[in-house]
Amino acid sequence: MKIRTRFAPSPTGFMHVGNLRTALYEYLTAKHENGTFVLRIEDTDQERYVEGATQVIYDTLKLAGLLHDEGPDIGGDFGPYVQSERLSLYKPYAMKLVEEGKAYRCFCTKERLQSLKDNAPEGSIVGYDRHCRDLSEEEINENLSKGMPYVIRQKMPLEGVTTYNDLVYGSISFPNADLDDQILIKTDGYPTYNFANVIDDHTMGITHVVRGSEYLSSTPKYNLLYEAFGWDIPTYIHLPLIMGKTIDEEGKEVVSKLSKRHGSTGFMDLIEEGYLPEAIINYIALLGWAPEGTEEIFSLEELIKLFDINRISKSPAVFDYDKLAWVNAEHIKRMNNEEFLAHAKKYYDISGVTENNYELLDELLKPRITKFNEIPDKLSFIKEYSDFDLSLFEHKKSKSTLESSKKMLEEAIPVLENTPWEREALTEAMKDLAARLEVKNSVVMWPVRIAAAGVAVTPGGCSEVMLLLGKDESMRRIKKSLARL
Ligand code: GLU
Repeated sequence: MKIRTRFAPSPTGFMHVGNLRTALYEYLTAKHENGTFVLRIEDTDQERYVEGATQVIYDTLKLAGLLHDEGPDIGGDFGPYVQSERLSLYKPYAMKLVEEGKAYRCFCTKERLQSLKDNAPEGSIVGYDRHCRDLSEEEINENLSKGMPYVIRQKMPLEGVTTYNDLVYGSISFPNADLDDQILIKTDGYPTYNFANVIDDHTMGITHVVRGSEYLSSTPKYNLLYEAFGWDIPTYIHLPLIMGKTIDEEGKEVVSKLSKRHGSTGFMDLIEEGYLPEAIINYIALLGWAPEGTEEIFSLEELIKLFDINRISKSPAVFDYDKLAWVNAEHIKRMNNEEFLAHAKKYYDISGVTENNYELLDELLKPRITKFNEIPDKLSFIKEYSDFDLSLFEHKKSKSTLESSKKMLEEAIPVLENTPWEREALTEAMKDLAARLEVKNSVVMWPVRIAAAGVAVTPGGCSEVMLLLGKDESMRRIKKSLARL
């Protein structure tokens, strides 16, 4: 049997990391077995309709690399793949159940249903009282001839238990008496979400259903529908919630459902903040799943190979932004020079980096950044140079004082004027100068770097800073600093 999974988002205009994890696990479940990953848009809830929201879904999946094999934009043998284009398909299925006595027409008015709720004892869960479940043939025909509107309801068994197996949560049982005779088709002839979902999964040949654990309790109703039709029940993989952490006033950790107050929860927002799609995917893969061993950094191809449904955990996963940043940094470290440059180039351009320094920066920045958008800040000294506080020259550990700095700059200027502007040559020249003056290397290197950069923290030491600035600019700055000293 070839595995077919589907990602069935409702177009809300926003892809929460929880939805993206569902999509990822659907994708990995299928791809691990060379199966098919289907995209189905569940847009029947017109009240929640948001303009352009479907595009957000396409863009997200594309950027994340979760390419679907069938879907609204690329077609397939099981279309249409948008629920609103399938509306006429559902009612005949419901009528079949009515004919077989497994569903029934309900003519109850809104007012009657409301009064059921109003008259129920406080705190009780009121389901439908099954008033129309046993209407006689004559009553039904009379109502129909009067043109009374009706919904179609599922006839739930009144006794017994419905049990199913979930690959993550194990065996799940619900007493049938607790199951409402839910509406399958509304008065306008359109399906409810619960009905459409089952018909769609079956008619699209879906073998594995991956979705959030909030659907665990609806699944018995779905299964009773599959049984009523005599269809195979898909394999279920329900996923635990994703939580977020905050620290309360007493310094205690508080864990609650991941939301905005924990940080960005949307895929596109994380991208905007500078996280790499492949790092987000890598991190999200680990929210509820772990491979054997201790390695945690994976490409999507590696995830496909390693993914194992049996290793999904049912305990809630906590979204840890620090860990995401670490995963991002690890992906950056593993980039080759071309990949690194492709991401860094636009920041180099703003920072005024010249092409001859790309390789140097690759080495300097790769191990030091967690996100590419940190680059302009790290390189701001290239374009900006102002009358910095002279106390920057004083540094205990480097044994640098204002006085020594002045002397070292005086000595360094003629040496630098006559040194080839290359990394090794510059470093050697500064070391030789320190040896000649019988001081520690840092006594020379600290003031030269500060004078050139005008800031305390730079990627690389004095030679690297001078290379990034070029000879003219470096000399101009060093002389200017000396004059100020
Ligand atoms: N449209 C549903 C949602 O976004 C899909 C649920 C399912 O996968 O069955 O939650």
